[in-house]
Amino acid sequence: MIAGFVDGATLVGGSAGAFDVIDPADGTVVQAVGLAGASEVGDAVAAAQRAFPAWASATPGERGAALLAMAERVAARASEYAEVESRQTGKTLRLATEFDVPGSIDNAIFFAGAARQLEGLASGEYDATHTSVIRREPVGVVGSIAPWNYPLQMAMWKVLPALAAGNTIVLKPAEITPLTTLMLAEDAAAAGIPAGVLNVIIGRGPEAGEALVGHPDVAMVSFTGSTPVGRRVMEIAAGRAARVHLELGGKAPFVVYDDADIEAAIQGAVAGALINAGQDCTAATRIYAQRPVFDAIVEGVAEVLGRIRVGDPRDPDTDLGPLVTFAQRDRVAGFVDRARGSGATVVTGGEVPGGELAKGAYYAPTLVTGASQDAEIVQDEIFGPVLVALPFDSDDEGLTLANDIRYGLAASVWTRDVYRAQTAQRAIRAGTVWVNDHIPIVSEMPHGGMKQSGFGKDMSKYSLEEYTVVKHVSWDISGDVRKEWHRTIFADRTPETR
Ligand code: NAD
Repeated sequence: MIAGFVDGATLVGGSAGAFDVIDPADGTVVQAVGLAGASEVGDAVAAAQRAFPAWASATPGERGAALLAMAERVAARASEYAEVESRQTGKTLRLATEFDVPGSIDNAIFFAGAARQLEGLASGEYDATHTSVIRREPVGVVGSIAPWNYPLQMAMWKVLPALAAGNTIVLKPAEITPLTTLMLAEDAAAAGIPAGVLNVIIGRGPEAGEALVGHPDVAMVSFTGSTPVGRRVMEIAAGRAARVHLELGGKAPFVVYDDADIEAAIQGAVAGALINAGQDCTAATRIYAQRPVFDAIVEGVAEVLGRIRVGDPRDPDTDLGPLVTFAQRDRVAGFVDRARGSGATVVTGGEVPGGELAKGAYYAPTLVTGASQDAEIVQDEIFGPVLVALPFDSDDEGLTLANDIRYGLAASVWTRDVYRAQTAQRAIRAGTVWVNDHIPIVSEMPHGGMKQSGFGKDMSKYSLEEYTVVKHVSWDISGDVRKEWHRTIFADRTPETR
């Protein structure tokens, strides 16, 4: 059984057992994979270390060309990637085809060019006797860990900036969704990326994940996943003061002012909440609507949610597929049941669909009102197709409620008033703020959090910089034996005296 891709070849076996990748649309097995343990992680890190010197000293143009060739390989079998991505996650084939795969290819093309555009201060004589030069060097072997919600995109977000900057990588996808990451490693090798530069290990978090994070030869740990696991990763890396990059959970506010285009806000809330079945760290999950428009928003969102077609993710007429696993569906149901139990109103949804859909991990699109700001359904990340709506009165109150959360990944504000929008985009503590939209991302712009959503940026040149270390090289240009500054050391002040 395949347990990874290490040193340019498929890793067969897996010392930590085996695992069935399940299609959550019907519970069938997509593929059985092996699970790697600490020994395979050690082999992968060793391969990455061996590959590092040559890859680090390749020219940016050579690295960029290799990434571009990889992007072409992915593009050549885009429909296969989309199909496998849909099968292992349950996401609709339409989303995988129109968002995950083309977004990933665009990212690869961006980083192929960005590899050649590293930035730093101009070299020059910042004092009269020295020329200063800035170098941006790769960090070394990067250990990356990715989540299951967008497996291919998350793999790309990890691999591309790391490789573009000259690092080598050992990447652990989530064990439940490893298949497109394996395809990517194969395509990277076929595109001429040298053996050991990109290694993939399939394994569980506490075993393979912790072995990777704790490995002494991993110079940097790049993690995307939940906030609790992110804290654990940071703790382990702290043991050897290794660099960490954390992209963690989110609970995005969606603030609708009373002058907003109400129909656009309704459509935006539903689309922003249901993307990837709500399993998106930036999903619109907390609607705050100003009192005069609150009822209209609730009614409109409920009506649109009621028309959502839940079903087979491969059917082009489907709007919402299953959640990634039956356990995730039950977790989501638990949040809604507890909210209902504590007096909140489930306006629509709030149930596991029966009939044909009972064979998959489906959950009905759900809107909850009447929860208090401190309720878990408002404060915790649910990661499912569940929206909660709360009213606010003054503009200040809306922004205070939006910020009253431990997360700070993304947010949106809906208004036609440019001054309100200006105030809000500045006041909201989140890595991304959309005005009159929610979700779109582009390769050129950074994605990353504040507060307990983590730190570090993915995509864009900011992410490329994260995978480099800045080195200052200072050249003496005086040629003097006794440098001018030596007078601070030597009492005799005579240059010729030894
Ligand atoms: P998770 O934290 O459970 O797992 C993420 C990865 O960490 C998986 O590969 C898992 O195997 C591994 N892992 C688990 N325990 C580990 C440990 N002890 N040591 C090392 N690795 C370990 O998250 P998930 O359920 O896969 O993904 C959903 C989470 O990811 C959500 O919280 C979501 O918000 C977050 N996410 C964040 C972003 C972002 O950019 N901020 C993007 C996507 C997903």
